[in-house]
Amino acid sequence: MKKEDCIFCKIANGEVSSKTLYEDEDFRVILDLGPATKGHALILPKEHAADLFELSEETASKVLVTAKRVAARMAEKLHCDGMNLVQNNGEVAGQTVSHFHLHIIPRYQDDGQQINWVPGKCTQEELEAVRREIVG
Ligand code: AMP
Ligand code: ZN
Repeated sequence: MKKEDCIFCKIANGEVSSKTLYEDEDFRVILDLGPATKGHALILPKEHAADLFELSEETASKVLVTAKRVAARMAEKLHCDGMNLVQNNGEVAGQTVSHFHLHIIPRYQDDGQQINWVPGKCTQEELEAVRREIVG
């Protein structure tokens, strides 16, 4: 199902033009309009899902296969030195477009980008408490 006012639905289904790298029945892969690095791409499912929580398991299982293929192509054609896959869910996590998308960000030596977090510190006891909270 498409969502009426969703820009990524419109792009994924070809109603709004984009720099498309790849398309099949499930996905359109496009270049990001505000690229973090040369080749920054987005995998857009054609079916609307706001985020990972709404994404069907079937589409979820296919998205990483698509990412792997696109990543291989990037490595071959752009000669990047590395690759980040980024996927934001929710405003607090940096999601700005409410249609699931997976970022594929080629990385180059000295590209000046930072896709990082500040590592925290915790004890084994604290880790165990979190583990129990999740699995319990
Ligand atoms: P996120 O912050 O994870 O929701 O990422 C949204 C991404 O979509 C950003 O990197 C934007 O640059 C990109 N973006 C937004 N609108 C468009 C568009 N019309 N075409 C291509 N990329 C877009
Ligand atoms: Zn959508």
